[in-house]
Amino acid sequence: MAPSGSRSIKRGCQRVLYWIPVLFIALIVAWSYYAYVLQLCIESIKDTGQKVVYLLVYHAVFIMFVWAYWQTIFTKPMNPLKEFHLSYSDKELLEREDRGESQQEILRRIAKDLPIYTRTNSGAIRFCDRCQLLKPDRCHHCSVCDKCILKMDHHCPWVNNCVGFSNYKFFMLFLAYSLLYCLFITATDLQYFIKFWTNGLPDTQAKFHILFLFFSASMFSVSLASLFTYHCWLVCKNRSTLEAVRAPVFRHGTDKNGFSLGFSKNFRQVFGDEVKYWPIPVFSSLGDGCSFPTCLVNLDPEQPSSPTGSNPANKGAAEGRQFPSKPLRESQSRLLTSTPSWTESDSATDKDKKGASNPGMTIENEA
Ligand SMILES: [Zn+2]
Ligand SMILES: [Zn+2]
Repeated sequence: MAPSGSRSIKRGCQRVLYWIPVLFIALIVAWSYYAYVLQLCIESIKDTGQKVVYLLVYHAVFIMFVWAYWQTIFTKPMNPLKEFHLSYSDKELLEREDRGESQQEILRRIAKDLPIYTRTNSGAIRFCDRCQLLKPDRCHHCSVCDKCILKMDHHCPWVNNCVGFSNYKFFMLFLAYSLLYCLFITATDLQYFIKFWTNGLPDTQAKFHILFLFFSASMFSVSLASLFTYHCWLVCKNRSTLEAVRAPVFRHGTDKNGFSLGFSKNFRQVFGDEVKYWPIPVFSSLGDGCSFPTCLVNLDPEQPSSPTGSNPANKGAAEGRQFPSKPLRESQSRLLTSTPSWTESDSATDKDKKGASNPGMTIENEA
């Protein structure tokens, strides 16, 4: 076994290497800024009106794109709340048992008080050995981050971060704005790209920037468009990338639509209730990331008092329950009970609850 000193050096080196793809993207973006603003707009476009319009629109898209990218990279992924971690006595109890079945018995007892509805393929309680916790629904252990990540979607090397509950909206906006950025450059650069081939451009270095700008923007557009379309489909279906590969298993069996509540509610679960927050990269997703409304909980015989409160008869029981000690947010349970309401009056009552005005703080406090 390697001494712990060399292990930490190895981990440190790995951490530096993980930033290389992010640096690569940052360099391409920096070059594209130089090529578009200086070489195309300022050097090559003669018409002042056109120059101003191009520069204004470009900078608006550029700011949104960089902002969403920044938020995706630097928003810490959320880990399960302490209720899901084993207590010291439970850990000891679990270590003493060597048979899988008696360990499962202990885990089942703990899980009874938690809003956990998904199981492993064999029907066992999902338990993370490394983090010593019961995995909340949709939570997975990331081997790169070495942590359990709430509603983990995937670990993305291009942002050197896990995409999950805390930053999935930012990731979607990052895809949308980067696609818009590339499409805008492709469309406005097209006529100068044609001029390059018809010798209509003056013989300066600007013509090569214009050429490569068109090639790179159009190529990125194609790959971003396919990735963005795929993630839009996932949002509509309320699935994570991991769940699209392997459907979640509930007590009654596998169900790929287990978390789907219909298009508009699925969309609001990621983007929130307030329309004004949809296009900007501030946190507005609904829920706490540990429990998710599912239309299937009433099928679960072991969870008669559903935390989603989807059945009016269960509502009273749900309110009197021990869990969630941090109660399911009203915004989240509304996903099952109410019809979509995107009005301003609705948003005002929810505002402080979601901490939309300072998303970073909400996430850090909960993590
Ligand atoms: Zn874990
Ligand atoms: Zn990760």
